[in-house]
Amino acid sequence: MSDPLAAARTLDDPAERARLDALHRYRILDSLPERAYDDIVALARQVCGTPQAVMTFIDEERQWFKASQGIQGEETDRSIAFCDMAIRQPDEVMVVTDASRHPVFKDYPQVTGPDHLRFYAGAPMVAPGGHALGTVCVVDVEPRDLTPEQETALRALARLAVQLLELRRGQLDAQRQLAERELFTRDLLRYQRQLQDENSELANEANTDALTGLLNRTGLEKARQDALAQGHAADAPYTVAVLDIDFFKRINDTLGHAAGDAVLRIVGQEIAKGVRGGDIAVRYGGEEFLVIMPGTPLAGARTVVERIRSEIAARPDLPMAVTVSAGIATGLAGRDVPERVFQRADQALYRAKRRGRDRVEAAED
Ligand code: GH3
Ligand code: MG
Ligand code: MG
Repeated sequence: MSDPLAAARTLDDPAERARLDALHRYRILDSLPERAYDDIVALARQVCGTPQAVMTFIDEERQWFKASQGIQGEETDRSIAFCDMAIRQPDEVMVVTDASRHPVFKDYPQVTGPDHLRFYAGAPMVAPGGHALGTVCVVDVEPRDLTPEQETALRALARLAVQLLELRRGQLDAQRQLAERELFTRDLLRYQRQLQDENSELANEANTDALTGLLNRTGLEKARQDALAQGHAADAPYTVAVLDIDFFKRINDTLGHAAGDAVLRIVGQEIAKGVRGGDIAVRYGGEEFLVIMPGTPLAGARTVVERIRSEIAARPDLPMAVTVSAGIATGLAGRDVPERVFQRADQALYRAKRRGRDRVEAAED
């Protein structure tokens, strides 16, 4: 027959592992004193008429006191814990009437030493899963016994303690769920922002010419739709400029494609610099650029494009002398379709080429 009191309790024992897991889920160990637990211990002492009462939890190596009356300290080594014996029979209240006559306890230091422990009665606190977490116990320095009523009361107090523990765990779970939900929401928001950023980056890339940073044809279509949506006043003048690099093929042929690209970048920079907010600047083809200037009549547009032309010619960092020719044409919003205005600007550009390049010609000239 196995003696439950002598059974070794180690972590190799899966039942003990499970009991400790159950205990740790309450996160009661080393918590601060709490009134309700103090009250249970005070009641235990009064009902049983003992000088000392304790609520103790049996941890891996120690017993820890959640509440105590008449006893110093807040924990002891598990190896000398009466309560460690008590929890081995979870359904029983363990009563030791005179520890000095008990075969095991008589040698415990609380019994042999100045504490002079003689009487012990402990009711296990049994969690809903059946694990005994610790006890509500009473202690006296004189040998004595419990009446059946006192034993019943001690059992009831241990059950109340478990009720408190269950409430505590419910609160902890709710708090954890709340924290998890907040984290989840935060992650979700971050993810959403990231997607938005990536989307707008992608949209930007799709609308932009990689070499010059100006809009490409896709970007032009979008910009036209946006401009239409803004609904410029009917009859407001707008000007379209088409710019083309002169003898660009020569640059490629003499200095190579990379030099050609460098020139394209420089021209793109000057166009971006020269246009104003609200203007639409596009790399339209290989070395052709388009600028749409809403709300701008011919004279103002000519000034803008002339400045771009002369700034390009004056760039000191060009690999060789580079000029541009441009044609400009004006239409009225709501009357002249942009395609038609563009055609006139393109015809003006050809005139600029014919007349010697490095110049701006207007369709109306
Ligand atoms: P014009 O003064 O009559 O405009 O003469 P052009 O040489 O500039 O005109 P043409 O249309 O004959 O040549 C344009 C050249 O631009 C041909 C093509 O190889 C080159 N090109 C087009 N796209 C790119 C590009 O992205 N990079 C480089 N380096 N060259 C390009
Ligand atoms: Mg061309
Ligand atoms: Mg050209």
